Amino acid sequence: MQDKVTPSSPQQASKPAPQSGAKIYFRLLGYVKSSWLYLLLSILGYVMYSAMEPALAALLKHIVDVVSEGKITESRLLIPLAILAIFVVRGIGTFLGGYFMAQVANKVVFDLRTSMFNKLVLLPSSYYHSIPTGRLLAKLTYDTEQVIGSITQAIRVILREGLTVVGLLSYMIYMNWRLSLLFLLVVPLIGLVVSYASKRFRRLSTRIQNAMGGVTDVASEAIKGHEVVKIFGGSRYETERFYKAAYENRRSQLKMEKTKSLNVPIVQFILASAMAILIWFALSPSISSNMTPGDFIAFITAAGMLGKPIRQLTDVNSILQKGIAASHSIFDFLDMEEEADNGTVSIDRLKGSIEWKSMSFKYPNAEKRALKNINLSLPAGKTLALVGRSGSGKSTMANLIPRFYDIEDGSLTIDGILIDDYKLTELRSNIALVNQQVVLFNGTIRDNIAYGYLRDASEEDVIAAAKAANAWGFIQELDEGLDTMVGENGVLLSGGQRQRIAIARAILKNAPILILDEATSALDTESERAIQSALDNLMENRTTIAIAHRLSTIENADIIAVVDHGEIIEQGSHSELLALDGAYAQLHNQQFSEIPA
Ligand code: ADP
Repeated sequence: MQDKVTPSSPQQASKPAPQSGAKIYFRLLGYVKSSWLYLLLSILGYVMYSAMEPALAALLKHIVDVVSEGKITESRLLIPLAILAIFVVRGIGTFLGGYFMAQVANKVVFDLRTSMFNKLVLLPSSYYHSIPTGRLLAKLTYDTEQVIGSITQAIRVILREGLTVVGLLSYMIYMNWRLSLLFLLVVPLIGLVVSYASKRFRRLSTRIQNAMGGVTDVASEAIKGHEVVKIFGGSRYETERFYKAAYENRRSQLKMEKTKSLNVPIVQFILASAMAILIWFALSPSISSNMTPGDFIAFITAAGMLGKPIRQLTDVNSILQKGIAASHSIFDFLDMEEEADNGTVSIDRLKGSIEWKSMSFKYPNAEKRALKNINLSLPAGKTLALVGRSGSGKSTMANLIPRFYDIEDGSLTIDGILIDDYKLTELRSNIALVNQQVVLFNGTIRDNIAYGYLRDASEEDVIAAAKAANAWGFIQELDEGLDTMVGENGVLLSGGQRQRIAIARAILKNAPILILDEATSALDTESERAIQSALDNLMENRTTIAIAHRLSTIENADIIAVVDHGEIIEQGSHSELLALDGAYAQLHNQQFSEIPA
């Protein structure tokens, strides 16, 4: 039924803001605020770690000087102890830095995931139709994982290696500023290579994320639809589709790896050239004449030690860019508009008279209107049966009552008040829904009957609802009764049992308005009868809008409306419409000849 839906999210495609990287990163840092203590501890760790690098170079200088001056005996114990001390401090620094940074990062991911999910349940129905489930799941899992990488690694490298660079450079300048200046001339060259690589990484990681979504999309569809795939021989098609998605993913990953692998040796080569030039100068007597052998060795060592942190600093870019690309998609999601709820009218319990006046409706991204000029009045407690061909607009009409979508033209009122004026949650708490595709959650039968607002219902009420829904019989026979787990989407129950649980849920809700999307699936006579009487119990004293397939519902309905191409072409009672001998009479005759009474 979603043939007019474009399966891509327009928000995502239209927002490649080039200079917003820093902004996104700062917004991400906003999530770090609450863990400032951990961050501080982790920074302390990094400071300890990076202070030990120049300390090592200084120790080396000391060793060389001691050896070349022949004063070994005095320092024989001191030097090994100093080495141990340096590594103990460095080790503690590594632990503090790494562990507390992980604390920070996991908190951020936790916060992002929970706020995304909290957002998700508040989004309008149209959003759920506009994005494949796999893409959505990838956002919640893969994208947030990318953010972990970005936060931990990037901050760690920037702080730890950054501080190491500062420490080592300061030491070098202190030792011989002229030589250091020479060395520093090479740094801009490294910067150029880095900025080139970073741009490329950013483009690639967006691509990889999209490809990643593709892999999960295809897989989740194939998993959900495995029966259809098997029966209709779709495995080849699905395999090919998955192959393509996985192939695209592999290609992008490799490309990313190639850039990364090239990036490292190029930066290393530039560093080596710098080192070669440095040594050439350092060996000239005019520059290094007043340096001791220890000074000289320590200086070269410090310059050599700069290689690793600088390399890591250049590498951090790709991680950072990945994280930024992922946060981009996360923040786009978090910035989406929630379902509007501007209603102010508070209600406890509606009476349930519903009136449509010249109402028209178009789906947000559809071209044609799904409903045109609907005029209908349904008094409280009565039953309206919507009949008509599939795709004619029956479900759409039902879905507008709980405001899953906003009406375009005309009005829809309940008890004389526009539905937009009611507070959304209060409006919905007055409506019960039994879907054709019964939705059960992975939990116990009790959890499924007493779902959502009904969570605090008493055991007696749950049992009474189950009885009225003709479900108590089979529930009692289960080993664990109400506490039996139903499996994901109720796979452990039969179709008829699932339906009766859904009916029990609606009975327990005891709402004045009931929307009933009757199942068309063939049930055995036993379940059919059990469900019919359960439905009769449910519909009693409620305003019911039934998308009707069952002859009994249709015939007993107070009003029958025939919907065709989004319009109501006939309305009246069963006998009135039969007497009219129009579309309804035709439908009725068809059904009678198809369904053996
Ligand atoms: P029925 O319940 O009578 O089978 P629907 O109300 O589901 O019909 O559909 C009415 C029309 O609205 C159809 O043309 C269908 O393609 C379109 N439609 C249904 N759902 C959506 C949606 N989420 N987005 C866009 N168009 C939709």
